[in-house]
Amino acid sequence: MRIIDPHMHMVSRAADDYKRARRAGIECCIEPAFWSGQDKHHAGAFFDYFEQIIGHETDRAERTANVDHYVTIGLEPKEANYRDMAEEVLERIPEYLDRDPVVGVGEIGFDQVTDDEEWAFREQLEIAENRDLPVIVHTPHTDKPAGTERIVEIIEEMGVTQDRIIIDHNTEHTIDISARTDCWIGFTLYPGKIEADAAIDLLEEYGTDNMIFNSAADWDPSDPLAVPKARDEMIDRGWDREEVRKVVFENPYEFFEQSPNFEYEA
Ligand SMILES: [Zn+2]
Repeated sequence: MRIIDPHMHMVSRAADDYKRARRAGIECCIEPAFWSGQDKHHAGAFFDYFEQIIGHETDRAERTANVDHYVTIGLEPKEANYRDMAEEVLERIPEYLDRDPVVGVGEIGFDQVTDDEEWAFREQLEIAENRDLPVIVHTPHTDKPAGTERIVEIIEEMGVTQDRIIIDHNTEHTIDISARTDCWIGFTLYPGKIEADAAIDLLEEYGTDNMIFNSAADWDPSDPLAVPKARDEMIDRGWDREEVRKVVFENPYEFFEQSPNFEYEA
């Protein structure tokens, strides 16, 4: 069964991870721009990073494992708190959105829910709305329900297109907040976020419409095979294969198909 993992930070991964992911069924992945584990202090560092994930990483995915690699570009919330630098970065975000493998805006959202984070979140939601682009929204690690609530309020207040937004990193504590919207609901199968069995329990309760699984696959303990493993667990639990396919392939496909640059052939 083919898989699209719509949230992988492959820049922090080895070539072998691409190969293992491909062998497990991942034909296509989306790499959102995010924090690199250490705060950047120069706007130029962002532009080099954007170039790296757009160019080198997309090429490496194809060269090492024939994986279709796409990117979303955005200023993540932690670094939005360096206001001067953040303004410089935001000014140049639109030019990256025109690049070939770029299929949306993200990750944007909240970390500590500060005024500067809210400013950057609103600015980038606006940029995405004006360009009809998909958006990946990062929900905070600390006090996640309150942060998610604030994210939903802003999305509703701005009146941006909810069908083009994934609210990501949901847990059992945020699903009711996210499910109030027409946004897509992402689960990051990751130690400390949500385990696959708990996420599958939620899908059994809430259904599979608009539900998306991803691995994050970043530099911390995480698993680039988290989505294939969840697929296997769903099959082991006796799920209908069409329903499994909907979660691991059709839903992310349908979401990113909204981007003019997404050319993966289903
Ligand atoms: Zn991420």
